[in-house]
Amino acid sequence: MNARRRIPLLLVVLALAVAALVLASRTKLLPSPRAALEGGGELALAVLDVGQGDAIVVRAPSGRTMLVDAGNSSRDAREVILPYLERQGIERLDVVVLTHPDQDHLGGLPDVLQRVPVGRFLDSGQASTNRAYQRTLEVALEKHIPSERARFPRTTVDLSPEVAVQVLGPQEPLLSQGDSAENNNSIVLRVRYGDTAALLTGDLEREGEARLLATGQELRSQVLKVGHHGSSTSSSPAFLDAVRPEVALISAGAGNRYGHPHKETLASLERRRIAIYRTDQQSTLTVHMRTNGYRVETAR
Ligand SMILES: [Zn+2]
Repeated sequence: MNARRRIPLLLVVLALAVAALVLASRTKLLPSPRAALEGGGELALAVLDVGQGDAIVVRAPSGRTMLVDAGNSSRDAREVILPYLERQGIERLDVVVLTHPDQDHLGGLPDVLQRVPVGRFLDSGQASTNRAYQRTLEVALEKHIPSERARFPRTTVDLSPEVAVQVLGPQEPLLSQGDSAENNNSIVLRVRYGDTAALLTGDLEREGEARLLATGQELRSQVLKVGHHGSSTSSSPAFLDAVRPEVALISAGAGNRYGHPHKETLASLERRRIAIYRTDQQSTLTVHMRTNGYRVETAR
């Protein structure tokens, strides 16, 4: 009887030992919290379809968010940007960047700042009489949003620990000559997560690209938000050769009066075998980044 009882007991002990071993080995295989965030987390960078303008939403794996520009108008905010944020469950923007004070980049900004809590506002600090720009500054003040001028190399952006956001431009002194000065003084951002980097250049044109190249900073990025809606005054050969993008994202309105994107730019991208995505044809463009790669999704 003793022997009969001892056998099942031994089996139970053995079973428990095996279970403990299995659990222990499973525990060892479980990634650390940091690795779990990096391996399981995804960064989404969405170029929204605001017609002829720019509005880009970045969501870090941690859930922290950044908006770069806000389309043309109040209507873009009401019909495109705010509904997108709502669909994504984004209730707060940790960082908002206005690359430069042109209507097609700031039109929806007063509405966004009114409706969504914002942690920090970065501005190129260029003088402008644009009414939406004046309104943007007023709302930022009313809402007590910490605001500052972004400058290379002084300004740093701590969006989220697992993501590097660098401010590559503009630098002092700002360019003051010519019609394109505002564009060439655009805030330039490089967003890097894992193996993938995305370069956002606002409406930077050739002169601004040359200045950026002259700083000697790392520009290499798999993803390029093409400067100035694909205008031929941007995306110079030297710049494209330094960035060496695999993917070009163009934000432009269908049938826009500037003819953006220009055929010279498209040809230049095609010659380099860069995959071209366009909001005027494919609507919202989303780059999903993992630590070890990325994929591009289009809304149509
Ligand atoms: Zn523009």
